[in-house]
Amino acid sequence: MDIYFYNTLTNKKEKFNSIEKDKVKIYSCGPTVYKNATIGNMRTNLFQDTLRRVLRYNGLELKHVMNITDVGHLVSDGDEGEDKMLKSAKEENKTPLEIAEYYTNLFFKDLERLNIEKPEVICKATEHIQEMLEMVQKIIDNGYGYETSTAIYFDVSKLDEYGILSGVNLREQKAGARVDVDPEKRNPYDFALWIKAPENHLMKWDSPWGASYPGWHIECSAMSTKYLGEEFDIHTGGIDLIPTHHENEIAQSKGTCGKIPAHYWMHGEYLLINGGKMSKSLGNVYLLDDIINKGYDPLVYRLFNFSCHYKGKLNFTWDGIDAASTSLERLREGYQKHLNGTANIPNNVITDIENKFHKAINDDLNMPLAMSAVWEAVKYSEKSPEIAHLLEKFDTVLGIDITKKKEQKEIPQEILDLMEQRKTARLEKNWAESDRIRDLITEKGYSVKDTKDGMEISVL
Ligand code: AMP
Ligand code: ZN
Repeated sequence: MDIYFYNTLTNKKEKFNSIEKDKVKIYSCGPTVYKNATIGNMRTNLFQDTLRRVLRYNGLELKHVMNITDVGHLVSDGDEGEDKMLKSAKEENKTPLEIAEYYTNLFFKDLERLNIEKPEVICKATEHIQEMLEMVQKIIDNGYGYETSTAIYFDVSKLDEYGILSGVNLREQKAGARVDVDPEKRNPYDFALWIKAPENHLMKWDSPWGASYPGWHIECSAMSTKYLGEEFDIHTGGIDLIPTHHENEIAQSKGTCGKIPAHYWMHGEYLLINGGKMSKSLGNVYLLDDIINKGYDPLVYRLFNFSCHYKGKLNFTWDGIDAASTSLERLREGYQKHLNGTANIPNNVITDIENKFHKAINDDLNMPLAMSAVWEAVKYSEKSPEIAHLLEKFDTVLGIDITKKKEQKEIPQEILDLMEQRKTARLEKNWAESDRIRDLITEKGYSVKDTKDGMEISVL
């Protein structure tokens, strides 16, 4: 069955054809490991994971590369401010390496809890300094790079088109461009390939331009070329990466080999919180741990994401999570009922539902539509293991552990006592005490969820 993807590069939904038969090469911009990944970051990772699973459902082999940014991402996506890694290291009184290791591990823990598969290649920026330096040199040799007293810049005016992905028109932009910080830049949209390090800068490497460190964008160009070649199939990321990071990756590839690196560029929309932005100042930055600590199976968040197309804005609310939790329970119960059923289902019923599912996922990963086929299977009135097996097949894309049975473990007296104490604290409106007891219960491997009818306890 044909696969269609929306391609940001052409602004169209297009039929997908891989460069190499039956093999798909994907590059995804990975995390900057300077702080906890939020559920927003995880939305982007879930979109990328769904893409992987859909391609494999279609019998395609994958080579998926994801980078870990552990140097060079400045506080602003332009070339201003401190390196995010160094800022975080200072704040937490740790070395940048410790910070990177700590947050990389947490990131992978979240991926695992969400059943997000690890890409075939995971590569760190700091381990590819040589490849980056070689690419910068090539860009200079080809006439696209120039040196100033602070950095090596990419000269965007040398490209016939800059802004091809976001559709920015340089001439129009120039007129309204903000005053730039570096007067030595030839054009306001020139960006740093390599940055000369100030005296006490912690992360720096020897280079033809003295002690220095990479700009943020060069790592993705250098590592995608190393692992996937000058041209590969799909490049993914969140929408925020389109106007700067991905434009600059394209510029760098054009400056090196004259090609746009990926044929299809796919971008996931943002997760909103109660209709707005997630931000520290609003106190609404949620982590996967916050969902787990409220007693939900982390896969509830995975299922919640299928309620919206990856290109649509998804609004996070606790009511939404609660509804997804009920749905997950019903899907798993429905699967068990089919597994234990004895009915014979006409072949065309199975094929019909399977086709609906397959068509939906192949239509630019339309998961809300695919879910309607899943529900049709679950709710089918005759119960049969054939449908259970169909659901198992669907779960290779969904990744919601549909075969998982509800755990019916006895809750120890110690936990029941803590729940009693928490109930009292809540009656007395002593929220701090109630939270303290909940944390204690979580530490002991159980999670407590507040419902309209009281508290529900489950095994973590
Ligand atoms: P950040 O940690 O803000 O640098 O984000 C890392 C990547 O995660 C970004 O490039 C986005 O693509 C993605 N991301 C950040 N916030 C959200 C969000 N609220 N919804 C979806 N993706 C996000
Ligand atoms: Zn990137």
